[in-house]
Amino acid sequence: MPSSLYIHIPFCVKKCDYCDFLSFGMAQLEEKESENYKKINILNEKNDLNDSKNLLNELNDFNSKSIRTRYMKALCKEIENLNISNDKSHCDNDFTSLQNEYYIGNKHYGCKDIKNYKTKLKTIFIGGGTPSILNLDEINMLGVAIKKTFDLSELEEFTIEVNPESVDLEKILAWKNIGVNRISMGVQSSTDDELQNLGRIHSWEMAQSAYNILRKARINNINIDIMFSLPNQTFEQWQNTIENIIKLNPEHISAYSLIVEEGTKFYNMYENGILNLPSEEDDRKMYHYLINRLMKDGYYQYEISNFSKKNRECRHNLVYWNAYEYYGVGLGASGYVNGVRVSNYTDFDKYINSVMSGDTTICTKELIDNKQAEFEKIMLGFRLNKGVDIVNFKNKFGFKPYQKWESIIDKWIRLGGLIYASEDNRDYLRLTDYGRDIANTVISDFL
Ligand code: SF4
Repeated sequence: MPSSLYIHIPFCVKKCDYCDFLSFGMAQLEEKESENYKKINILNEKNDLNDSKNLLNELNDFNSKSIRTRYMKALCKEIENLNISNDKSHCDNDFTSLQNEYYIGNKHYGCKDIKNYKTKLKTIFIGGGTPSILNLDEINMLGVAIKKTFDLSELEEFTIEVNPESVDLEKILAWKNIGVNRISMGVQSSTDDELQNLGRIHSWEMAQSAYNILRKARINNINIDIMFSLPNQTFEQWQNTIENIIKLNPEHISAYSLIVEEGTKFYNMYENGILNLPSEEDDRKMYHYLINRLMKDGYYQYEISNFSKKNRECRHNLVYWNAYEYYGVGLGASGYVNGVRVSNYTDFDKYINSVMSGDTTICTKELIDNKQAEFEKIMLGFRLNKGVDIVNFKNKFGFKPYQKWESIIDKWIRLGGLIYASEDNRDYLRLTDYGRDIANTVISDFL
């Protein structure tokens, strides 16, 4: 059973020019609202005296609530539906004739026990979008739904993603109140021109002040997201951003190279030849500089894009990179439960209506068979600096990677792309520095 939960908040103040995440700026949402009002008018026109009372009630309900309010209500309901006592798949149809006997895994529960059983969570991650956009009521209702559904007595890490413009003391206290103990803040750059070019709505000064408020509120586990290979970015500007972030002294830094994704404003600019991006060579230079510079200040790289102080790795993201299972709730969210990867509807109305009417919110389901699970474990493991944990792999699949991919592993060790290493009394198969530069080629050999 998964012990991690991802919650998706798809709202942002404004859509950034490079962003292809499932998130909507408020202006976009207002457009969507007016589309809904049009739909209501059509339904109203169709309505006649014989039409059911239900439709009118439904319309009133629909009319009176903004997408955001309806979304939050549906989201909380979806979370509560994860309560195991609501999960009929654990029930035998012939339940009573089995004299209320009941098993989860190989553990026995009686009927009464199952009603009180709550899944224990180790990590929660509220991501988006911009979860810090939520007001105090919305944060609290989310907290209530989580506490009602899960056992948090062994919770290790509870992260919320925030943006500088929507951080304030009241919200921080509300986050802490529902159990949040880690903040991930999207800063991206310490150069205001770059922030403006990205379509961000905060300045470097706002980012610093949000960071200081977080520290004053005794948040002692902070990640800062930064980006490189930005339009018109010079190497010196990148160095400057790194220095400024190091001065803040966060526990964790995530650094991503800008990728121009289809469907974004940047993509159109790129297609029209008006996006001046650093060369591939400059991009690699910025990346290697970052790794060396952060290392000097005690940030250890544990994943391609992630650096942390000792023991401050993001435990939730490690669940993904170790190919462990997790729940995902919210618009378009993915989950991986009982060997099946699922994802929710990406359309607001479909998502909200499904939750509220008790239908499934899942629009795609993929059974991860052993062959794929083995490959994913290798692929994701190679993202980690430690590499693929050999014993962990054997425990899961019953054999060591070498037993299946002998010739491939031998070849890449010979070519200098892979290496065996021991760390903390565990054996790993990992990419070398050279292997990381050609990671896709190495990994595709394991397919
Ligand atoms: S704030 Fe984040 S999620 Fe929202 S539009 Fe910008 S990059 Fe995308």
